[in-house]
Amino acid sequence: ESRREEGNSVHFYNSQLQGIHAQHLKIETELRQAINNNELELFYQPKMDSHNGEIHSCESLLRWLNDEGRPRYSPVEFIPVAEQSGLIIPLGEWVLETAFAQANHWRQHQPMVTAINLSQRQFQHHDFLPLLQRLKDKYPGIEPFIELEITESLLMQDVSCSISTMQAIKDMGFALSIDDFGTGYSSLSYLKEFPIDKLKIDRSFVMDMTNNKEDQMLVETIIQLAHSLGLATVAEGVETQDQLQALQSIHCAEIQGYLISRPLSAQDYAEFMASYYQGQQSQLKPV
Ligand code: C2E
Ligand code: MG
Ligand code: MG
Ligand code: MG
Repeated sequence: ESRREEGNSVHFYNSQLQGIHAQHLKIETELRQAINNNELELFYQPKMDSHNGEIHSCESLLRWLNDEGRPRYSPVEFIPVAEQSGLIIPLGEWVLETAFAQANHWRQHQPMVTAINLSQRQFQHHDFLPLLQRLKDKYPGIEPFIELEITESLLMQDVSCSISTMQAIKDMGFALSIDDFGTGYSSLSYLKEFPIDKLKIDRSFVMDMTNNKEDQMLVETIIQLAHSLGLATVAEGVETQDQLQALQSIHCAEIQGYLISRPLSAQDYAEFMASYYQGQQSQLKPV
């Protein structure tokens, strides 16, 4: 009886794995075409200053849309495939070029710091630092308008190599933040050695902070830790007014989430900014 069950579960597991493998191949093939056909787009999600309600920064987020403008796959599905297949190298290069061009455009109208997500393979690629240098040369003076986001787990793969790449990024004049902070495994002793500017508190902590005392304590502790290390803080995934107030009361500097806005196309972002500064801001202003 139990042997048969075991056999079935192994069989089930294998066929499930085959299914995942087939899905990966499908995404990989389609992604190759999507890159060539320019089917990818960067969206931008604003981050609000929690003290004065102003918006001076955003995060760029990759979107793969179908003809009707609906997501074909979510980044959570296709970024890992891009990472595994190596497609993340051309894709990541396109993301950097597009985000730099957008930041450079905004800068001439309404300065906006644009944060760009980096993947592990991209960060470790031999052409990554030269690419950043080429973009810096192409857009002189762009440095204060660019922030790069790297995840905690990425940095822990090879700490000394990570530190030297981070230092090179900082030496070029770009800001660096640690994304999804609290979900990785970095030890506090490393944290103080990382040449970073900001911690982004993962959405999973923010989600429950207003009904779970422990999550609230955790967020508060992360913010205090950041402050004592001289780092700025951003909370991601802020969806409710209660979460906003809780974060303001513990001095989280920046707020990102659906409460402010969903990620928007560059055009919608411009419209959002225009209406935000025509009074809608008051609804969100800190209490
Ligand atoms: P992330 O960098 O942590 O980005 C934040 C994610 O949270 C985004 O998901 C964003 O749409 C979502 N989000 C923001 N506010 C809220 C909220 O209030 N509620 C909820 N439920 N979600 C919220 P998205 O766009 O699906 O991206 C997922 C992940 O994919 C990103 O997580 C990032 O790790 C990766 N990614 C996205 N764009 C890029 C890119 O250009 N390059 C690389 N390497 N990775 C990217
Ligand atoms: Mg991010
Ligand atoms: Mg994040
Ligand atoms: Mg996240």
